[in-house]
Amino acid sequence: MTHPAQPKASHFINGEYVEDTTGTPIPVIYAATGEQIATVYAATPAIVDQALSTAKEAQKAWAKMTGTERGRILRRAADIMRERNHELSVLETYDTGKPLQETLVADATSGADALEYFGGLAGSLTGEHIPMGEDWVYTVREALGLCVGIGAWNYPTQIACWKGAPALACGNSMVFKPSETTPLCALKVAEILHEAGAPAGIYNVIQGMGEVGGALVTDPRVDKVSLTGSVPTGKKVYAAAAAGMKHVTMELGGKSPLIIFDDADIDNAVGGAINGNFYSSGQVCSNGTRVFVQKGIKEKFLARLAERTGNAILGDPMDEATSFGPMVTENQMNIVLGYIEKGKVEGARLICGGNRADMPGYYIQPTVFADVTDDMTIAREEIFGPVMSVLDFDTEEEVIARANDTEFGLSAGVFTNDFSRAHRVIGQLEAGSCFINSYNDAPVEAPFGGVKASGVGRENSKEAIKHFSQVKSVYVRMGDVEAAF
Ligand code: NDP
Repeated sequence: MTHPAQPKASHFINGEYVEDTTGTPIPVIYAATGEQIATVYAATPAIVDQALSTAKEAQKAWAKMTGTERGRILRRAADIMRERNHELSVLETYDTGKPLQETLVADATSGADALEYFGGLAGSLTGEHIPMGEDWVYTVREALGLCVGIGAWNYPTQIACWKGAPALACGNSMVFKPSETTPLCALKVAEILHEAGAPAGIYNVIQGMGEVGGALVTDPRVDKVSLTGSVPTGKKVYAAAAAGMKHVTMELGGKSPLIIFDDADIDNAVGGAINGNFYSSGQVCSNGTRVFVQKGIKEKFLARLAERTGNAILGDPMDEATSFGPMVTENQMNIVLGYIEKGKVEGARLICGGNRADMPGYYIQPTVFADVTDDMTIAREEIFGPVMSVLDFDTEEEVIARANDTEFGLSAGVFTNDFSRAHRVIGQLEAGSCFINSYNDAPVEAPFGGVKASGVGRENSKEAIKHFSQVKSVYVRMGDVEAAF
């Protein structure tokens, strides 16, 4: 019997599901059991071409609609997503293995927020009038054209919406390629957008591995590429896009610092460290994986952290009581276990976890290392799993320098009850998305993205509009034209 997660077909192009079984088969594995629940097929060159030519053609009429009309469709799609939240959350759990307790509140809901927010903005995207004496200049905010979105596997619904909603609001069309690991959810986003009234061809989804992404990025019909992925992939995709002088947004990885001062509320700081390391089993790019704790509260912090981490409920992700799910794939589990081994060998002190969980599926125990030093592998490289490194520090000046000593710059957090210190420290941290007495909040209203190797451009908020549109300026002369001859 066909599993309920099996999609009608692999791709969604020109308003309908399209299949081409001559592409490489991509098995979809449910991370909680290791069983294959669906199969999709990578896009062949013919499918890539069909998606791009359809999106290119459809964009022209879409850009001619008023922003209010486009926005209405996005807002309708948001309503449909909310109505189907349960069904979409179950699919997200099948796609990623994340527990339903999370997916019910963080995935389709966050996607719907993006559709609603950018739907609301669409009608207010205007230019300006610049007086020049009797003459004037006016500006027009125009769509870029055809945008490509390429997603990572940790938030397949959210990424599809975070890229699609601002792109469509600005009058662009999109071809979206999900990660081969999580191909299911973006198809539902496409289906819902079309059900809400999006014209055929405005939002298309095609499957495939890196080479399909590569074919999209290098195609001359494409005007912009928005990638969520790792730094090495980001560098490749950025370079390929640059060769065609395309616009880019790069949402890449991190090794973010979370700094906890002696005067912080310990339970809030522990809660921030848990949210910033163990949500989605640690598979979150903005995680605060280097937790710097001031020496005065170190042991108290570690004791409370170990106690609360012990309350994590590992189990069936479909059981709403489960608060901690498996790694997305066996491969990712092995990568993370390799880092845990390095932590042990390099001399970090294991506080809790440190092993694969003794159950089916790709579960790793939530793991905390203390006495981590700046040069250890677990403090330098992005692990993308439930591994928290706790480092000690003495002074504010010292911790700022150490926090910034990384190629990454996605996020940073500070816990302290001294608000002038909080703002002073945040002001010196090299990171794009920061938190004071909190960690990992990502509302659609706030810009999201990194500095340094963690990325280029911003998603969400009004900032995203700038990255999915361009400004035309028009000089209007009222009098005669003076010329030299
Ligand atoms: P990857 O960088 O491996 O892949 C990201 C996407 O790019 C996938 O869809 C992948 O396809 C595709 N891709 C790979 N190579 C190319 C290429 N040469 N040209 C075009 N596309 C390509 O990341 P993961 O999927 O493994 O995701 C984990 C990473 O994503 C982590 O490092 C994490 O930090 C980062 N991330 C960043 C976020 C942010 O907003 N800053 C949010 C979430 C994750 P395929 O995998 O199918 O081969």
